[in-house]
Amino acid sequence: MKLDVRQIIKTFADDTVVALQDVSLHVDEGEFVSLLGPSGCGKSTLLNMISGLSLPDEGDILLNGRSIVGQRGQVSYMPQKDALFPWRTVLDNVIVPLEVQGIRRKDARREALELLPLFGLDGFAESYPSVLSGGMRQRASFLRTYLDKKEVMLLDEPFASLDEITRMRMHDWLMEIWQKFRRSIIFVTHNIDEAILLSDRIYVFSARPGRVVAEVEVNLPRPRNVRSSTSARFTSLKNDLLDYLSEPLDINKPLSR
Ligand code: ADP
Ligand code: MG
Repeated sequence: MKLDVRQIIKTFADDTVVALQDVSLHVDEGEFVSLLGPSGCGKSTLLNMISGLSLPDEGDILLNGRSIVGQRGQVSYMPQKDALFPWRTVLDNVIVPLEVQGIRRKDARREALELLPLFGLDGFAESYPSVLSGGMRQRASFLRTYLDKKEVMLLDEPFASLDEITRMRMHDWLMEIWQKFRRSIIFVTHNIDEAILLSDRIYVFSARPGRVVAEVEVNLPRPRNVRSSTSARFTSLKNDLLDYLSEPLDINKPLSR
């Protein structure tokens, strides 16, 4: 498996807002890759293009050597806004991708039910999203994305709205189940520690227009857990990332959104 993003350019609003400027990156088989950058640098815009929901102005996106530009259904996508249907139970929410594939509801439910414990949702099959905690909602969204079963999963700031302690638990949980299923992941975040802790590699983005300013290999041994973030190697990586991210703001440039 290989995903290749080549020299993507994307503008909005009649070419006045350059969201992404010449972005290239790749993800290999079973790799955990993060896109780290400030809000508004075009991270979600890029995921929308990889998932085929929108089109780049220039550039190409290849999955296993074949262009997937404008094609939906090639990758699994967990968008930034939790998209659980409030009128469906947890179980019926997570089976949506299986239903889309034409699998009978009964079979889909059976398959999903077996996975609920692993996703920390045991006993909540018949609950509605409104009664779930933030962490549980994210795990339900994640299970839905997982059941889509594509080679690559795109996760857009899945833990951004969680409190620090819940987020810490989610990190350990995510690393544990990722070790089990080893699917390739593109993980979007603006949290430096989170990017280091989880990733094999990190692409650092500049503020808008989004460009890749650095590619950083995270040479921390696995398995990792929350304690890995207190090691000397972690601190040294963090220092590198802070350097790349602390590009000075040009105060003469008018602030745009
Ligand atoms: P990020 O996910 O990194 O926070 P986004 O990809 O959401 O950033 O947005 C990048 C830039 O593109 C922002 O300035 C945003 O306002 C702009 N943008 C995103 N989507 C649209 C759109 N549909 N129309 C116009 N501008 C957009
Ligand atoms: Mg975003």
